[in-house]
Amino acid sequence: MHEMSLAQSIVEIVENVSKQNGNKPVVSITLKVGELSGVEIQSLMQSFKIAALDTVMENATINIERPEGTAWCMLCAKTVPLHRIGDACPECGGFQLKVNGGNEFRVSELELKNEE
Ligand SMILES: [Zn+2]
Repeated sequence: MHEMSLAQSIVEIVENVSKQNGNKPVVSITLKVGELSGVEIQSLMQSFKIAALDTVMENATINIERPEGTAWCMLCAKTVPLHRIGDACPECGGFQLKVNGGNEFRVSELELKNEE
């Protein structure tokens, strides 16, 4: 399953950051999951429940940011919104589109617990 391996790789990244900071538990993480990243949010959250078990991320809050998809249309010669890969240009109905935004998948923020 695609989302499972994504969740596992995020947990790995987060564990490494935590390790570099004295194995502090993770309070929250924010993920940027672009509209065109091909990642299924629900399936991703399910995968995190499994992947984060017994890790520093176990009790972390997961926030999702969803940047809107955009593409460059050759015919309109401008950037147009694109909500799904394979959709036509909303302005001219053409298909000469090149995705230029909203296809990212990465950790944008990470908050570690600060023990006093
Ligand atoms: Zn167009």
